[in-house]
Amino acid sequence: MSVESIVKSIYDADKESLEFSKPLYYKLLCQWLKKGVNSFDKMTDLPKTVIENLKAKYTSPILSEVIDVKKDISSTKLLLKLYDGLLVECVLLKREDGLYTACVSSEVGCTMKCEFCATGSVGFKRALNWWEIIEQFFHLKALNNELDRIVFMGMGEPLCNFENVKRAIEYIKGEIGMSPRRITVSTSGIAPGIKALADSKLGVKLALSLVTANDSVRNTLMSASRLYSLTELKKALLYYSEKENRRIALEYCMLKGVNTDRKSADELKNFTKGLIYSVNLIPWNKLDFLPFDTPSAKEIKAFEGYLNALNVKYTIRVSRGRDTSAACGMLVAKNKGGV
Ligand code: SF4
Repeated sequence: MSVESIVKSIYDADKESLEFSKPLYYKLLCQWLKKGVNSFDKMTDLPKTVIENLKAKYTSPILSEVIDVKKDISSTKLLLKLYDGLLVECVLLKREDGLYTACVSSEVGCTMKCEFCATGSVGFKRALNWWEIIEQFFHLKALNNELDRIVFMGMGEPLCNFENVKRAIEYIKGEIGMSPRRITVSTSGIAPGIKALADSKLGVKLALSLVTANDSVRNTLMSASRLYSLTELKKALLYYSEKENRRIALEYCMLKGVNTDRKSADELKNFTKGLIYSVNLIPWNKLDFLPFDTPSAKEIKAFEGYLNALNVKYTIRVSRGRDTSAACGMLVAKNKGGV
């Protein structure tokens, strides 16, 4: 797959754009995009008339348009308007090593509707095309060139849009040259999708949003759980580990009074048996319109104590991007009219 093919896919949406049928202009445009340039005015080797024609038709060489930017100390969240007017969000996250991670969306809204997630509360509009995922990367790269990781943790369940996510990853690996070790796909627990990801041999990291290792509690929180039990999920994770020989990140979103007691710790311990894993504890980010609370410092400490006693390896993650509503489960694309 080449850069040319992504540009062609983008402009297939408008076949009237005859300028782009000329191979030279394709080539020049592709070269600029590869450098992270996303303004026609900066494409100095394209003829002025072509630039003017393009500007009359498109705001930028990529179809999605940034319509809002929110920043805090460690994150920049972009609200993008897609070619059909729908809205989607993506986030640039500053890591402790000073470099940056792109958090991209795979759907407008989400099919899964997890009870504790802002994205889930807005419903599902449509899956993103693979090039719309790449466009998010280009927008974020234009903010900071020191972007060297990408996580599929934004709006949507990536494994419900597998073909487009797969194609986007192939592009990121092949055209952008990012190592698969720097790419993470996060799922709410689509067991067949995990197997398909393993079979695709993309070599990326896998994160599972586990939340609880109790089927009945999980059923009340996550649609994926009603589709695939923890037993099915564990089989899929073992399959992934076997094929990819990779540690799996178990994301444990801590909800006050829901999944932080001793019994929950025992169930988590039980679930990890036989897995190559790391547990990431993520205290839930408070959202006023959802019926949950962030656990207190005391509750978090107590849960850590249970895990220590059980010898469960974990890290606790202070979620970045809280101030801009860019943290885990907070992307909702509701600014300026909603999705
Ligand atoms: S947590 Fe993930 S899978 Fe669940 S509703 Fe939110 S975006 Fe969708």
